Order: sequence, then structure tokens, then C-alpha cells
Amino acid sequence: MLTTRPERWDRVVDAIIVGSGGAALTAATMAHDGGAEVLVLEKASLIGGTTAVSGGVVWLPGNHHMAEVGISDSREDALAYLRRLTCGHEHDPAVLETFVDTAPEVLSYLEANTPLRMQPVANFPDYFFAYDVPGKKSGGRSCEPLPYAVGDEIPEWRDRLVTRGTLMSLGSNTMLAEDFAEPTEELKAELARREAQDIRTKGAALIAMLFKGLLERGVELLLETPVRELIVVDGSVIGVRAEANGQSIFVAARKGVVLACGGYEWNKEMVRAFIGYEVQPLSPPNNVGDGLVMAMEAGAQLANMTSYFGQPAMFDPEISRDGELVPQFEWGRGAPGSLIVNRTGARFANEAMPYNDFPKAFGAYDATQNEFPNEGPGWMIFDQGVRDSTRILSMIPGRPTPDWVPVANSIRDLAALIGLDADTLEATVATFDENASQGRDPLFHRTELGLMAPGAVRPLNQGPFYAVVIWPGALGTNGGPRLDTNGQVRGYRTPVIDGLYAAGNTAASAYAWAYPGGGATIANGMVFGFRAGRHLAAQPARDI
Ligand SMILES: Cc1cc2nc3c(=O)[nH]c(=O)nc-3n(C[C@H](O)[C@H](O)[C@H](O)COP(=O)(O)OP(=O)(O)OC[C@H]3O[C@@H](n4cnc5c(N)ncnc54)[C@H](O)[C@@H]3O)c2cc1C
Repeated sequence: MLTTRPERWDRVVDAIIVGSGGAALTAATMAHDGGAEVLVLEKASLIGGTTAVSGGVVWLPGNHHMAEVGISDSREDALAYLRRLTCGHEHDPAVLETFVDTAPEVLSYLEANTPLRMQPVANFPDYFFAYDVPGKKSGGRSCEPLPYAVGDEIPEWRDRLVTRGTLMSLGSNTMLAEDFAEPTEELKAELARREAQDIRTKGAALIAMLFKGLLERGVELLLETPVRELIVVDGSVIGVRAEANGQSIFVAARKGVVLACGGYEWNKEMVRAFIGYEVQPLSPPNNVGDGLVMAMEAGAQLANMTSYFGQPAMFDPEISRDGELVPQFEWGRGAPGSLIVNRTGARFANEAMPYNDFPKAFGAYDATQNEFPNEGPGWMIFDQGVRDSTRILSMIPGRPTPDWVPVANSIRDLAALIGLDADTLEATVATFDENASQGRDPLFHRTELGLMAPGAVRPLNQGPFYAVVIWPGALGTNGGPRLDTNGQVRGYRTPVIDGLYAAGNTAASAYAWAYPGGGATIANGMVFGFRAGRHLAAQPARDI
């Protein structure tokens, strides 16, 4: 952190937005519309961060599209649902309320004032719809972007916008709703049209539409320009030192800086220090905690540091980058003839629970035995029935089993192959099978609870048996600077740090570790990006 003014400023603007994901581009839009001169600085060579490779789903309770699918919502319902899921651990109840109060306006404002267009994802309930929780909805809160014709609308930027998401299980140019639809001739023709016209979907569409809105406003975005340090003079954040072409550039911000540069999931040391166990990152690799370091240096209060937006991860030896395996999304978790065990060979959680929550079970501490019995990796064990019906990484039904997959004719032999205690694994599978044959899971309630709907069980009764390693993974971390309701960063020494805002995965999530429904992470970022940009623009310009 620099604590004196540089000898010269290379640029002077009102607002510096750090990052170009959903949180950042929303903040930039609002700062501009509030009258601020805005500069967006992005470290990567592509626009959009994790948001651009994501499903692009945004969870906005009370949004105006809910009526189109005949679902009503209310502040009370949304808050009752969220409060039940946070279990009272939100870092500030007022910030949680602000999320609910602002969410509808974010979508209506952006649809009215930018090219962004969204629709509710059909048949997509809140993630805890199968649970006995208040305020849950059967759909409508999760919206997804409509396809966007990047080829027609912003052809000069097409190579600097992500083309397709990294989610292997989903199509590259389908909408989420279409991923689960019948592959009709009409849909195939539509997908061919999208390919031909460079029409993008999901997170790539979300970012492209928000970015087009910034282009229309004349907001400048510089790629390959990482922000390295804040410039903080007399307790006020007045600018940043960034790097461009290997040179330092000093940019002043008359009104403020918004840190919207993602989480720290790619920073192994930070993950170890804050979360406490190994978690595999699933986002693009630039999110190494730059925003967190800058906020800490400026004296930010932190919150939610042990948490992250979870997603179980797997490794496929056929997918690597620069000689290193790249963590992949899980496949097949909760398939009826499968279960997941820890390093002792015991089950440890309901395999069908929401993807944010399952990874957290890997971090459980056993105070009786003084150990972490579930520390990764775990093993997903499944039978031939699952092998024949479910794709798992590059293991595809009907095709030869890849060499890297352990296969054995008995559970005992499988245990020996993967180094687990054979007696324990055999007993685990026997108990599971006995209960599953009666359609029950008294240990972990898999037949009663699961993501959106109860899970299912079936005995593992068709050998041979297979095993795949499964790890806790992160879509992004969600601990960081504690915000007030305006998206300003709170300080330890002062109520807020003058001139410093944060949004998205750089900041502490409004809903603690909870992931209430599809799109909750991007929504958290867009809502507080929205508030930060608007508040920042309304501040008097400081004499830099
Ligand atoms: C495959 C996949 C699918 C997902 N699907 C969904 C979904 O449908 N809905 C949902 O809600 N969530 C989803 N998630 C999670 C979601 O994408 C992220 O939580 C969210 O996009 C984070 O947004 P953000 O704006 O905080 O950060 P990001 O989108 O990660 O943007 C941060 C940006 O900051 C840049 N940056 C980092 N350091 C610096 C620096 N020093 N200077 C300048 N720039 C910097 C990064 O390069 C990056 O571009 C998904 C995640 C993955 C991986």
C-alpha cells in the first residue's frame, strides 16, 4: 500500500472499478449513471472473470419476472428463507435486508437501462425446496440471461469476451433451461444458428450485455492492467497503482475505488490459513486474493473468512494446463447406485445435498477423536448400473473405461486398489445397500433431502465397482472485507474506510456461507456492486 501521493498521476477519474466480472460491471454502470467518470481495470486478457464462464444464473428474490411464471414473492418470504439458511451467522442483519430490498431493483434497472435481458429459469426451485424451511419458492427467483448476439452487437470485442463456459456438463451455447430440455429438431436448428452468428449464452451473455451497456456509455475498460496497490493518504483511498505493459501507472479516484476482483480461491496459502483445509478452485486462475490483500492493508474489517461458495471437484488426467491437472466440476454425485466415503471408508454426508454445502462436510472436526476424518480427498464409489447410465468426467457410458479409473469385481478388492480399509468400506456399502433396498437412508436422509428435490438410493448390486476421487471445491471464496449497506468497506479504526468499496467475491457475502438458490453468488455481487456504484457516484469529488 502506498501512503503518499505519487509524483505524477497518469490518469484522474472519479471511480476506479477493479475487475470486470458481474459485480464490477454492475458497479461501473451505476457509478457512471450517477454522474461519475469511470475507469475499469482488469488483470486478465479477457473480460468477465468467473462470471463470464459461469451459468450466468442470478438469484433475485422478488424480481419482476416472477409474475410471468405465476410465482409471487415478498420481502418477508425472502428474508425468512435467507435467515433460516444463514442460521443467524450473517455478518450484518441490515446488509442481508438490504440485499432483499435491492435485488428486484437491480434487475429492473439494468433491463431498463442496459442491453441486459433475463428470464426465469423454468422448473428451477430454490436449492432448499426439499427442506422444511420457510419462505422457499418453487421457481422464479433464479433468472438467466437471454442469448446475446456478440457477433452482431460488439464484433470488435468478440475475441476479448469469453466464448463459452467451463461447465462441461452443460452445452456451450444452450441456455440453462435448454440443457435439460429434449434435443428437438427446433432446438438443434437454433443452436446451429447461434453458432453461426456468434450468439453467446449463460455467463458469457451476461457479461457481454453488461459490457455493451458500458460501451454505450463510453466507459473505458483496460485489459491486462492488474491493480497492485491502493494509495491511501490520511486514511482515505485516493487511487491505485496498477501495471500496464510491465510499467506502474498511477490512477487517482476523486470519489472512490471499488474492489470487485474476485475471491482468493487460487491462493493456496490463504485457503489454508482462512478455510483451513484444501479446497480446489474452479474459477479462472486470476482470483488470488489481490482485493483481500489490498483491503486488509487499508485496515478493513473482515468477515465470513472460513467460508466459500462450494462445489465438489474431481480431476481427470485427460484435462491439464501447463502440466498441472485442472480441477473439474463433479459428475454423478448422488446417482442412486453410488455413495461417497472419507479416507476411513465411511460415509459422512448426504450425497444429494446442495453443491455449496457438500464440500463443507470435508472440513468437519471430530472433537472426540481430535482429527479431521473427512479431509480430502474422498472417494465416490459406484456400481456398473451407474457406469452404464451416467457420464463421469471422460468416462462415458458405452465407451471403454479410461485406464485411470480403479475398477474391481468386489468392494474388498476396490478398497485394496484405492488404499482404504476393506472391512470399513465393505461394512459401509453393506449398510447402505441394506437400507437402500428398502428405499431408506436413515443415516443421512438422502431420500428425504437434496438439491431442490430429495435424492434417491439404490443398492450397489451390479459389479464391477468403480471409484473416483472427489474433493471439496470452490466456485469462489466469499469471505473478505465487511461491507455496510452502501457497499463501503468497514474499517477497524473507522466506521468505514473513506473512498473504499467492495463487491462480489472480494467481499464478505451478505448471506454468510449460505447458497439459497441458483445464481446466489452473482446476485450477491451484482446487488452490492449496484449499491457501491450508486453510493460512490453520489459522493463529493475529493481534491486529489
Ligand atoms: C463454471 C462455473 C459456473 C458458475 N455458475 C454460476 C451461476 O450460474 N450463478 C452464480 O451465481 N454463480 C455461478 N458460479 C459462481 C460465479 O461465477 C462467481 O461466484 C461470480 O461470478 C464471481 O463474480 P465476481 O464479480 O465477484 O468475480 P469474477 O467474475 O471472478 O471477476 C473478478 C475479476 O477480477 C479480476 N482481477 C483479479 N485480480 C485483479 C487485479 N489485481 N486487478 C484487476 N483485476 C483483477 C479477475 O481477472 C476477474 O476478471 C459459477 C462458477 C463457475 C466456475
